[in-house]
Amino acid sequence: MTIDLCVWDRCNNKCLMCTNPDRPWPAWDGSFDYSFEAIIGRLEKNRKKIKAAESIYLTGGEPTLHPRFLDIFRYLAKTFPAQRIKLLTNGRRFIYRDFAEKFLAVTNNLEIDMSLCGPESAVHDGVTRAAGSFEQAAKGLRIILENRRPGQEIGVRTVLNKATFRHIGGTLRLLRDKFQDLDRVIVIFMEFEAQAIKNIDLVKINYAQARPYLDEAGPILKDFKDIRFYHFPLCTVAKNIWPYVWRTLPAKEVSFVRACGKCGYKKLCSGIHKGYLKSVGREDFFPVKEKIGMELSGDFYRPINNILPAGDVVIL
Ligand code: SF4
Repeated sequence: MTIDLCVWDRCNNKCLMCTNPDRPWPAWDGSFDYSFEAIIGRLEKNRKKIKAAESIYLTGGEPTLHPRFLDIFRYLAKTFPAQRIKLLTNGRRFIYRDFAEKFLAVTNNLEIDMSLCGPESAVHDGVTRAAGSFEQAAKGLRIILENRRPGQEIGVRTVLNKATFRHIGGTLRLLRDKFQDLDRVIVIFMEFEAQAIKNIDLVKINYAQARPYLDEAGPILKDFKDIRFYHFPLCTVAKNIWPYVWRTLPAKEVSFVRACGKCGYKKLCSGIHKGYLKSVGREDFFPVKEKIGMELSGDFYRPINNILPAGDVVIL
């Protein structure tokens, strides 16, 4: 179990497809108070529950911009040493080397996932609607990679939407070539909620549009230590991508269409996000009927280890 901790609701980006609602929004206890004291009070009240969790996920808004972010982080590391602390960030504050060094010195029990929306300013800043955010994110990423300590894992997340999907090959090549020491890269198909609904004309795509660009990027996937695809039903990507497909959406947020009943791989499929069915439609899903050789992992979240050569068929 992961505990999500919204550090606060402010951000210096205004991403077109942000899954947060308009500000202000409340913390888990309904309070709109994100002061240091309120956050610590919230955590203390839930101390037992948090100690039973595997990890604490720091989100926002942009967590690193909170004026007491380092104090909150130090409290978490000291109070919950057994829990892995994960930070989701736009990375911009890490251009300040002294801040990055202080942050990374707190605990080695840390994972950072940074958002990158494209391979260059024109694409990234178009999504974040914040001039200079690409330069800052790229520089911040370089600084944390250079200064990280043993055990600290650094990853990048990139979300496919109308403004970014044509650039996925370029984004992956940039990450492979300029940030080789990344621990993981996560490619996410956009979710249709919150800001994405407000900006629907600017962000809406379907799986069929994205597929040729993912096919083109396919050969470089093997160059990454760990690359993951989130929110991709299996029939929406080529089979060589199946081993990288993860199931991360909660069961209550996904559904299947009638065609899925005839699909041989439903048991391994993430299902379709309900927001997609509502905003895009039910037409993009086709039952996979051929027998495909594969090695299964036994892991619910990443069910397929490998696609095997024709002939080595595993019956599901
Ligand atoms: S047809 Fe349905 S079950 Fe099969 S891969 Fe597509 S979405 Fe998943």
